Amino acid sequence: MWADVEIAYFSMEIAIAPEIPTYAGGLGILAGDTIRSAADLSVPMVAVSLVHRDGYLTQQLDAEGWQSEASVEWPIETEMEELSTRVEVSIEGRPVKIRAWKRDVVGVGNAVVSVLLLDTDLPENSEWDKHLTDKLYGGDDRYRLCQEVVLGIGGLRVLRALGCDKLRIFHLNEGHAALLTLGLLDEELERSGSEELTMDHVRKVHQKCVFTTHTPVAAGHDQFPMEVVQRVLGRPEMLAMKEVFCCEGLLNMTFLAMNLSRYINGVAKRHGETSQHLFAHYKIDSITNGVHAATWAAPSFQKLFDDHIPDWRSDNFNFRYAIGISTEALWEAHQAEKQQMLQFVKGLTSREFSSDLFTIGFARRATAYKRPELLLHDLDRLKHIGREHGTIQVIFAGKAHPRDDEGKKLIHQVVELADQLHPEILISWVPNYDMQLAKHLVAGCDLWLNTPKPPLEASGTSGMKAAINGVPSLSIPDGWWLEGCIEGVTGWSIGEDARIPELRKDGIRDATSLYEQLDQIILPLFHNQRDAYVNVMRHCIALNGSFFNTQRMMQQYVQKAYFS
Ligand SMILES: *Cc1c(COP(=O)(O)O)cnc(C)c1O
Repeated sequence: MWADVEIAYFSMEIAIAPEIPTYAGGLGILAGDTIRSAADLSVPMVAVSLVHRDGYLTQQLDAEGWQSEASVEWPIETEMEELSTRVEVSIEGRPVKIRAWKRDVVGVGNAVVSVLLLDTDLPENSEWDKHLTDKLYGGDDRYRLCQEVVLGIGGLRVLRALGCDKLRIFHLNEGHAALLTLGLLDEELERSGSEELTMDHVRKVHQKCVFTTHTPVAAGHDQFPMEVVQRVLGRPEMLAMKEVFCCEGLLNMTFLAMNLSRYINGVAKRHGETSQHLFAHYKIDSITNGVHAATWAAPSFQKLFDDHIPDWRSDNFNFRYAIGISTEALWEAHQAEKQQMLQFVKGLTSREFSSDLFTIGFARRATAYKRPELLLHDLDRLKHIGREHGTIQVIFAGKAHPRDDEGKKLIHQVVELADQLHPEILISWVPNYDMQLAKHLVAGCDLWLNTPKPPLEASGTSGMKAAINGVPSLSIPDGWWLEGCIEGVTGWSIGEDARIPELRKDGIRDATSLYEQLDQIILPLFHNQRDAYVNVMRHCIALNGSFFNTQRMMQQYVQKAYFS
C-alpha cells in the first residue's frame, strides 16, 4: 500500500482523534479534518507529523480565572502502531535516529489514509535529541528548528524507507514543514549525480510542492536567524543560494515554502487576497477551509441527517436538502444537544446551567486579536439587554499559549467581570478547551460568537462546525464569515451597520454593533419568533454546511493543486 500513495501531507500538528493530544488548536484540527476527508474521498494520501509525547497542555483555571498548564502524557503504544523502520538525519552534526508511529484513518468507503507521527525517543540518541519530538511549539528557536528538521527531512526519509516511491505531490501545511523542500532538493541532487545545487534542481522540486499559508500578517511567519540555521543544518553551500533560502539574514519558512511550491493558497477568499498583497511576487490562490462533517455533527444531528438526507456522509453537497427538514425535528435535535452540552460543562465547572436560557458560545484560543472581552465592553448595556430579553448564558472556553501573558490576562479579565454581570448575564469560562469540549459547544449553544480584530482571522473554523449543527454565528466579517454570512439568513455580522458612527476606538464601534444585533434582531427573533429563528438554523446547514466542509475543500485541492 505504501507504493500506491501519491500525495504526502506534512503538518506540525494533526488532531487525529480527541484522545490523542497532538494538536494545539485550529491548524491541527484542520489537518485532521483534511485527512478524514481525504480518506472519505479515497485520495491516495499519507500524512506526517510529530508524536508530541508531552501532549499539548491541559489548562486549569483558578477562582480568579488565572490559567496554569500541565502537560499530558498519552498512551502512544495503545493509540498507535510502531513501525520497525528507522531513519537518520543530521542535526548540529550529530546523527539523530527517528522512528514512526502509525494510525490509520478510515474513510466512509473504507479507504485508508495513514498518519505517521515521528519520534526521536530512541536509545541511540542523546538525552537532548530524545526529547526533540516531545513538545508542540515548546522550547526556543534552536529546539523548534531541530523539530522542523525531524518533520521535513526526517519525514521524507521515513516515507522513502517505507517504499513510498510514487509520491508526486508534497503538501506543506503551513511553513513549519518547509524543510521538506531541502530533503527533496537532496534527492534531486543525488539523482542528477551533480555536486552543486542549480536552479534546475530547484525547478524540479518546485513542480512537486503545494503550500498552504495560514497566517494573515508578516510577523506571524516562522523564521530563524542564519546562525541558528547554520548550526543546526550545516549545508553552507546550499544555503548560499540566497534567492531561494535567505532573506535579510533570516531563513523565513514561508518564503522557503513559496520559493519551492508550484501552487500556493490562502485559507479563505479574503486571506488569499491579503496574502497576495503581502507576497506580491508570488501567485497566491485561495481554497476556503472547511470542517469534517461527520466528525463535527453531534449525535442528534447525525440521526436527523440519517433520517432526512441519507447520503450526507459520502456526499456533503446533500446538506443542501436540509432545507426540507421540519422546524420541529430541527428544534428537537438542537434541544437534545443543548442539554447534553450543559450537562457536560456542568461536569467541568460544577456550576448550574439552564437549558431554558438563551446561550451564547465563544470558544477559541485565548489571545489578544480574538478579543474575548469585546462582548463585555459595556457592562451596563449588556445587563440592560439581559433585563429586557431574559437572562443570557455565555459559555467561554479557550487556552492561552503558556507564554502569552496577554492571553492569560484576558481570561482573568472575563472571569473577573462575570460577577458584575450577575444575575442578568451568567458567564463561565470552561477550562481545557479541546476537541471533545468543542464538539459539545458547537452543537449545544444557541448562537456562536466570534469577534476577531480584522484582518487577523485567516479563516476560522469553529463557526463552520456550529453551522453543521444548525447553530448560527454572530461574527465579525473576516475570514470565512465574509463568505458564509447572508445577513439574517445564515446568521449576523458585527460592525457593518452604517447607522453606527465611527468612534475613536474601533472596538467601541464593534461592541455597539454587537449589542444592537443582540438587542434589536437576534433576541427578539429567538424569544418571539421561534420558527423564524429555526429557519435561520436550517439555512446554516443547507447553505453553509453544504459548502464549508473539508470534503468540498479536498475536492478543490485535488482539482486545483494535486492533479492540475
Ligand atoms: C475548531 C477548533 C479550533 C479552531 O477554531 P477557530 O474558530 O478557528 O478559532 C481551536 N481549538 C479547538 C479545540 C477546535 O475544535
